[in-house]
Amino acid sequence: MESYDFLVIGGGSAGFNAARVAASLGLKTAIVDGARELGGLCILRGCMPSKTLLYIAEVLHLAQKGSTFGLKIRTARPDMKAIHARKKKLIAEFAEYRRKALASGKFTLIRAQGHFVDAHHVALSDGRKLHAKHILIGTGSKVGTPPIEGLDRTPFWTSDDVLDLDFVPKSVVVLGGGIVACELAQFLHRIGARVVLVQRSPNILRDHSADASVVVQKAFVDEGIELFAGTKLQRVTHDRRGITVEFIHDGKTMRRHAAHLFNALGREPNTGSLQLAAAGVQARPNGQIVTNRWQQTSQPHIYAAGDCAGPAEIVHLAIQQGELAARHAAKIKGVKPVDYGLMLNVVFTDPQLATIGRLERELDQTGVAYLSANYPFNDHGKSILMEANYGYVKVLAEPQRGRILGAEIVGKDAGELIHCFSAALTLNATVFDLLRAPWYHPTLAEIITYPLEEIAEKVKSGMCNPPPRRKHAGKRA
Ligand SMILES: Cc1cc2nc3c(=O)[nH]c(=O)nc-3n(C[C@H](O)[C@H](O)[C@H](O)COP(=O)(O)OP(=O)(O)OC[C@H]3O[C@@H](n4cnc5c(N)ncnc54)[C@H](O)[C@@H]3O)c2cc1C
Repeated sequence: MESYDFLVIGGGSAGFNAARVAASLGLKTAIVDGARELGGLCILRGCMPSKTLLYIAEVLHLAQKGSTFGLKIRTARPDMKAIHARKKKLIAEFAEYRRKALASGKFTLIRAQGHFVDAHHVALSDGRKLHAKHILIGTGSKVGTPPIEGLDRTPFWTSDDVLDLDFVPKSVVVLGGGIVACELAQFLHRIGARVVLVQRSPNILRDHSADASVVVQKAFVDEGIELFAGTKLQRVTHDRRGITVEFIHDGKTMRRHAAHLFNALGREPNTGSLQLAAAGVQARPNGQIVTNRWQQTSQPHIYAAGDCAGPAEIVHLAIQQGELAARHAAKIKGVKPVDYGLMLNVVFTDPQLATIGRLERELDQTGVAYLSANYPFNDHGKSILMEANYGYVKVLAEPQRGRILGAEIVGKDAGELIHCFSAALTLNATVFDLLRAPWYHPTLAEIITYPLEEIAEKVKSGMCNPPPRRKHAGKRA
């Protein structure tokens, strides 16, 4: 029987990076992955294809708004066959790069499904059985189908289908208001589909602040997406002409018909076929594997990382968790757990929504004192000249020294701008530290300096003199 020091089940972002680090630390390592196509969710059906399409949709949207900038662009229409071909080519290149890394020989790659026989043995779909000293579970997530009347009998699209479209659908009802639902609803709308988004909670993107969600919501409605939040889904039906979704909104029963239904109601951990109980690995009722801060499960030599373990479906977390597990298994001294106080989140809608660190509602709930200041995009020269008027930058800081606790940005390129705070939070920087940094004019990043200045003025510490106000070509200048 083959035996390994570190056996990884699932070769996605978490599993691949765990195996890469484990092998580099001298552990005899193998990855077991039963996918028809190797590469993992992020490359094949997640981040990369979705961001390819969203960027195209943004370019199209700007071209269609050409007259705003004084441009005569007669027709700006999507060529879905060309878009699809470009997406496929790019994804094939990214996946090929990953496949080469998986087959580099630094660890063993086994193309099979795996499940536990006991706490040290994994059975493979090709009939073999492997022994391992340490095991990492990185089996990812799958689309969930919540119990909504008629949904199981109605043909629906998942994000996989939307990402693979080579035509413009006439109309789509999107069920859900999470990240995937919102990003792809806007893509569908911008390529020319009539889109209705039906969301159960009072605002879309409910994990974010109501202020931030409302900005994205307004942008969606201004663009022409029909959006219903705070609904109660009743049933879904279909006939020859398409689908019908029935829901209660503002106390009234509403119906919306469309050619297609997109189920974007969320994903669930992909752990159902692993036979976790045979290994004594504990999972929550939804299948999410319980881990400690070292990614160890209830069996200390079995680790879990990525979407199957949570707490969020975010690639850089999956990578950090996988690498941590490998280092912990290799007994590397000085390893540190993942710091969720630095939680970084990006929603690639337009306007984008990004947060890092502590959220205002967390600080309120835990009674932590903080200072807050925000500044709108529509009062700054660079964003005004770009017609990027939705949104704001908000900074949260500790009142004594002005140490930055968190930031929230809604607006053009918020997903890039939020990284101005990544190093700041990691290094425990204060607003004064950040204000000492150079900020080029005119940039969107300059907007960040305004709430920093406001907080600096509010901090009564004397540790550092607030820098002089700089000039900017915003309405305030
Ligand atoms: C549309 C969409 C857009 C997204 N956009 C972003 C984004 O912009 N930014 C971001 O950070 N995150 C994004 N995500 C989330 C991100 O893709 C995931 O968090 C990440 O890919 C999860 O990585 P993972 O390693 O946990 O799982 P995966 O990458 O899913 O890997 C799991 C692997 O396990 C294998 N496997 C499963 N079961 C078994 C078994 N029993 N035996 C053997 N192998 C098995 C599978 O074949 C698969 O290769 C997006 C997700 C979606 C759906």
